[in-house]
Order: sequence, then structure tokens, then C-alpha cells
Amino acid sequence: KTSEALALSARTESMARGGGRMPIAMDRAFGATFKDPDGNTYIDLSAGVGVSSVGRCHPKVVAAIREQSEVLMHALEINSTRRTELAAKLSDVAPPGLRGDCVTFFTQSGSDALEAAIKFAKRITGRHQIIAFHGGYHGVWNASGALTTGNAYRKGYGAQMGGVIHAPYPYAYRFPFDTTHKSAEQIAGEYVDYLLNTPYTAADDVAAVIVEPVQGEGGYVPPSPEFLQLLRKACDRSGALLIVDEVQAGAGRTGKMWAVEHSSVKPDMLTFGKGIGSDLPMAGLMMRSDLAAQIPDGSMPNTFAANSLSAAVALTNIAILQDPELDLLNRAQVLGLEAQERIRGFNSPLVGEVRGRGLMIGIELVEDPATKEPLSRDKIGQLMGYLMNHGVLMIPCGRYSNVMRVMPSLTISRALFFKALDIFGDALASLKA
Ligand code: PMP
Repeated sequence: KTSEALALSARTESMARGGGRMPIAMDRAFGATFKDPDGNTYIDLSAGVGVSSVGRCHPKVVAAIREQSEVLMHALEINSTRRTELAAKLSDVAPPGLRGDCVTFFTQSGSDALEAAIKFAKRITGRHQIIAFHGGYHGVWNASGALTTGNAYRKGYGAQMGGVIHAPYPYAYRFPFDTTHKSAEQIAGEYVDYLLNTPYTAADDVAAVIVEPVQGEGGYVPPSPEFLQLLRKACDRSGALLIVDEVQAGAGRTGKMWAVEHSSVKPDMLTFGKGIGSDLPMAGLMMRSDLAAQIPDGSMPNTFAANSLSAAVALTNIAILQDPELDLLNRAQVLGLEAQERIRGFNSPLVGEVRGRGLMIGIELVEDPATKEPLSRDKIGQLMGYLMNHGVLMIPCGRYSNVMRVMPSLTISRALFFKALDIFGDALASLKA
């Protein structure tokens, strides 16, 4: 069935190792579906890890590429019409705290955005430590990689940037502390306050707390709003900056433009990437104007920052996300809740927990709900094999790679979405048998 596709995807002799590998290849894509080189069609519940938020090769995006590519693509560090327009647009759509009064630093990838955020936070505060969280993912380079936890990314690669202190993330399903009297959010939030505001902890010079408002790679974990509220208070008390990493959860994925908006917390900086660029690389960070004023010109040059093509596409993407007729953000909330119900309705003993916000849903699979032992990698492999053979692409995440992500393009039709979910239900049943 997939002879040519397999041959293509197996042809990796000239590709460096390091990235993920899947026995599948893409040839062409449209909306929430793609075809492999043999012409088999797949429903994509991964949206290219959330990049294709309005669906792949959206006609308006394709038109914007055509139009912009004829007039200007690369403008080096000189400002360009599209880049300036995009910075202004981002300021308009930023969450409270940044909205109308922020500036944007553009990068090519989410990791670059985090590298920049760390450097800026240190320069602005004159401090050097960073607090990040267990299970967090912020990139794999020297500074961003130091924030990311996980043996797979670090082991054998030597020391990374120092000064990072990791605190527990309120992952209630697997929280290591007693939650009889306090929620995981309260415990995790108070712990950060303790780190930041108590003498003689290891944290005595903290520039920033960097947090994913919904943890992505760590297992699609949506904390209650109280967590971010406690972090905000702790940062205010200590003078550390609060940086929300919205590379995965942002750009409408959770049913609001930014996931931090579910908590009414005002961040000092926000990093974005993936879903803002609709198929093209676009990332960066927004920061409060008064903070940005302290960064010296020429201290952070970046050759490819927001080329005009990516900027034109991001502007088109944001316009589609905001189109009142499509109402994609509210639709993501409604569809997300319906999807969670449907998945619970499978009544599979392998489903330990279904959780999420909007169309960022995690299905935590376990050998046994009582012990919560993560479903084995072998079985996850079998599950993905079944899904691919039945035309569905889903990718796992989580500390034990046992959480299946449901993150389709926000434009996916209801019928296609539920068809794919039902195939997932069949896949679960096939595994049990
Ligand atoms: N931050 C978060 C929250 C992410 O999910 C990712 C990518 N998974 C990154 C940063 C890094 O982005 P990139 O892969 O574009 O460098």
C-alpha cells in the first residue's frame, strides 16, 4: 500500500539523525489532510505539530505567497513593510499586559525565540538565573535546551547553560506530592514563590520564570488558572519577569489567541512560533515596551528575522484566525469539548485521562488505570501503526511518550475530525483484543 512512500521515507542516508523518524512520507497536503507519494490520503490530527493552524496550503496563504514573492522576500535587518505591519498586528492581538504596548523580536524558530527571551531577561534584570518546569520543552539549543527537561534531549551532550532551576509543573495526574489539602496548582505555585522569595534557597538571582501555559511536549497538561496567577504574584514580589512560552499553545490552539488569556494573567514576555506562521517558519517574542527600551541596538542581530514572505503569510494567517464568520477560536473550544466527550465515550480501559483546552487535547494511555503505568512504547507503536494503516496521523508526547495528541488544524471539518477520532477508538479496541 505504501511502497513508494516507505522507500522515500526510508531514504535517510543523507539526513542527520536527531529528529524523529516515522514510516510515512508526505507528498502533497490540503487543509487537514495529506497524501503520501502512493496517493493514500491521511487525516492529520497533528497539523504539523500545530504549525498548520488554518490547514495546510490554505488558498489565501498560497495567494499571499504568490503576491509577496513577486515584490519582496528578504530584507535583511532593514525594516520592511510587511514586517512592520506584522509587529503592529501582533501588538493588537497580544494578551492583556502586552496588548497595544509591546514590541516584537522576530526569529526563525521557537528555540531561537527562547534563546532571545533568556538573553533579554538577563540584560533587562541584570540577574542570571531562570526558573523553568519539570516536563517543559523550550527547544534543544544551549540556553533553551537548559530549560527543557528530558533525558532523551540531554544525555551524553554535556553541560548546558547554567543557572536554571526546575520546579514541579502542576501535572495533577502524576503529581509527586500529596494533593489531599491543596491542589497541584497551589503546591507548584507556592513552591515557586518559596524559591523566589525566601533567602537561602538556590534561587537568589532570578531573572525570569519561563512557563508553558499549557504544557505541550510534556504531555498536554492544562493547569487551572490559579497556577499562572500564583506565578505572577511570586514574580511581582521578587522582580523576576514572567515569560509565557506559547510556541505550541498559542495562535488560537486553545480557543483563545493566547493560552495565557484563560488565566487573566499579564505576562512580561510571550514567545510564539509554530501556528502563527501557517506552514512557513515564523517565530519570536513580544515584550513590554518599557522593558524592550533597555536593550541596546545592535546587541542581537539576526539575518533572517521575519522575511517579508513569512510576515505576509503570518498576517494572512492571523486574519483567518480572526475572521468573525469562521469564528475559529470559539469553534476550537466547542469542538474540543465535544471531542473530549467522544473520546471518553470509547470507555477504553487504556485511557487513563483525557484533558485539554480547545483543540489541544491529550489522551494519556496506560496499561491499567489503577496503577497508571504508562502504556508501553511497543503498544504505542502498534497503535500508531493501526492509525496510519487506516489513514490517520496522530503523534504522541509526554514524559513517557504515552500521551496521544489531538491537535488538528482549527479549520478541520467536524465530520472529518470525528471520523478520525472514531478510527482512534477502533485502534484502541484493536490493541485490547
Ligand atoms: N517551545 C515550545 C513550547 C515548543 O513546543 C517548542 C517545539 N516543540 C519549542 C519551544 C521549540 O520550537 P522549535 O522546534 O520551532 O525550535
